[in-house]
Amino acid sequence: MNKPSFDVIFMELAQNLALRSHCTRAQVGCVLTKDTRIISIGYNGPPAGTHNCDDEFGEEGCPRDSKGSCSLALHAEQNAILYASKNGVSVEGSTIYVTLSPCISCARIIYSMKIKKVIFLNSYAAYKGLASDEGVDFLRKFGVEVVAYADLQSS
Ligand SMILES: [Zn+2]
Ligand SMILES: [Zn+2]
Repeated sequence: MNKPSFDVIFMELAQNLALRSHCTRAQVGCVLTKDTRIISIGYNGPPAGTHNCDDEFGEEGCPRDSKGSCSLALHAEQNAILYASKNGVSVEGSTIYVTLSPCISCARIIYSMKIKKVIFLNSYAAYKGLASDEGVDFLRKFGVEVVAYADLQSS
């Protein structure tokens, strides 16, 4: 029988986690793994105990930053990395599965934390209507492997 690969299992989990996001602007989920084990998870949203964008801002949506994103939310990658750090779990050498490719500020954090590989489902540039995926470009330029999930499935 065909067993699901870890890539499929982790990306499906990331997609399910995205559904938990309370943000009205975007729902993004991610899973941080090492050696086929999960070391942390995250989805985008304001820090725990502060805001729930959907309850608080409803129809009008949460306050935007200069790029049109939620100005209150930590990104999924930031939540996953912060949780691991808070609990003394090293993320060095790990792989991150994320439903939207990292923005430039998450890319800087991913690089700094020595995460070695990023697998993303959807392109941030396509979602934002930007010319290039600056987060992906940054990571590749400095030696972090970045793979589109679609490319993974076809190989
Ligand atoms: Zn929000
Ligand atoms: Zn980000």
